[in-house]
Amino acid sequence: MSKQTDDFFKNIVSHAKEYGFVFQSSEIYDGLSAVYDYGQLGSELKNNLKTYWWKSMVQLNENIVGIDAAIFMHPTTWKASGHVDGFNDPMIDNKDSKKRYRADQLIEDKIDRYEKDGKSDKAAQLQQDLDNALNADDLARLKTIIEDHNIVCPISGTKNWTDVRQFNLMFDTQMGAMADGAEKVYLRPETAQGIFVNFLNVQKTGRMKIPFGIAQIGKAFRNEVIARQFIMRMREFEQMELQFFVRPGTEMEWYNKWKETRLKWHLALGSNPEKYRYHDHAKLAHYANAAVDIEYDFPFGFKEVEGIHSRTDFDLKQHQEYSKKKMQYFDPEINQNYIPYVVETSIGLDRLFLTVFANSLVHEDLSTEEKQDSRVVLKFHPAIAPVKAAVLPLTKKDGLPEKAREIMAKLKLDYNIQYDEKDAIGKRYRRQDAIGTPYCITVDHQSLEDNMVTIRHRDSMEQERVAIDQLSSIIGERVSWTNLLTQLI
Ligand code: ATP
Repeated sequence: MSKQTDDFFKNIVSHAKEYGFVFQSSEIYDGLSAVYDYGQLGSELKNNLKTYWWKSMVQLNENIVGIDAAIFMHPTTWKASGHVDGFNDPMIDNKDSKKRYRADQLIEDKIDRYEKDGKSDKAAQLQQDLDNALNADDLARLKTIIEDHNIVCPISGTKNWTDVRQFNLMFDTQMGAMADGAEKVYLRPETAQGIFVNFLNVQKTGRMKIPFGIAQIGKAFRNEVIARQFIMRMREFEQMELQFFVRPGTEMEWYNKWKETRLKWHLALGSNPEKYRYHDHAKLAHYANAAVDIEYDFPFGFKEVEGIHSRTDFDLKQHQEYSKKKMQYFDPEINQNYIPYVVETSIGLDRLFLTVFANSLVHEDLSTEEKQDSRVVLKFHPAIAPVKAAVLPLTKKDGLPEKAREIMAKLKLDYNIQYDEKDAIGKRYRRQDAIGTPYCITVDHQSLEDNMVTIRHRDSMEQERVAIDQLSSIIGERVSWTNLLTQLI
């Protein structure tokens, strides 16, 4: 990271904390590594992002329905899905610092360094070597690559490495009161399996016809070997996943459609298109016949935010085999039974939160010849802003607070509104800018006489005088979900 991007990243983390968006979990006990809590504004923003996803998937598509499956599942689920045997990361320890790393990430960091030093050929060659080693599950080769490229531990600076070993990422626990008759269960590492095991339940009770989708938002848990970069890589996180069931042979058509649809969804939030790119997977997961990531240009480089995977019939077939229950669909159009193919879109809510934060956090210089001035603004799309408007009486007396409370009492039935009477008005505006509130409504002495207030727009900072009666529709027009959703159809 250059100094500038490093500073920007630090700003994101500190701004998120200072304004109640994200806190380190159990901070009073010095935190728990890679676990975070969302504060009063963070949980509002997160809820709004979930709503945007849910509406665009479930509400806009007649053939997609949503479910909410349990985190615990029968342990055989994870045998069938391949996670017990195959959900591993290659890890390596440095014997001097005693620190553990993901071998592939150490190599990827080296590739980034080659790129930055203008050694593109070397970077491309190393990428190829890494892909080959990963595809072949060749752990010894990964170690040789690390040694050959003189990759050292960032802490100790030495090359005193252990062998590369596989490390399973699933958390497990015991179900049942007695440790010795208890059954080992896993905390789900992805939400997808909750959808697959309910495929027939939903298809039958919802009378769903292929092609159709099942969507779900929920927590997932992975014991990441190394956790870093704030809410980018967490041990407890949230996923928003769609499994879209299609007729075999049509999966690439749907894969391409979803690939396009999902990028459009990100861009509708007003994000800079240059910050996004597709990245095709060189190493396909055991279940996939095509896979692409939507990557965002974070301060620490392009990284995956969402994955679109053509999962074939792998999961349903496996569950059919392990459960001995038929996972077939009868397709009346072609008069045939088959196990559907699946196209998945899987987005991490926390990573999405981070992209939205990085995209919206702006430091604006407002200096004039007379005086120096600046402000920090979170330019969220109004539909996802945690607070939609702030009601601000100009002074704390002369009946202005009462009038402001009256306005607030009406608006709060529709929108999340804040009331603030402390400090000078300019300072209050800045506080609202810093949390991304699209509107500030100022009540002054004149308001008592003419029932008009001043409304200030966050981005342009323009102010206009409007009738109190019109406030609800003015706010509604900009913060409505319609603004986002119409861009998707
Ligand atoms: P990575 O390669 O970055 O570990 P992945 O390929 O394992 O990610 P998937 O299994 O495809 O990720 O999971 C789908 C989505 O879930 C990812 O695009 C990401 O947004 C999110 N996700 C996965 N792991 C984490 C994590 N540890 N913390 C936060 N989000 C995560």
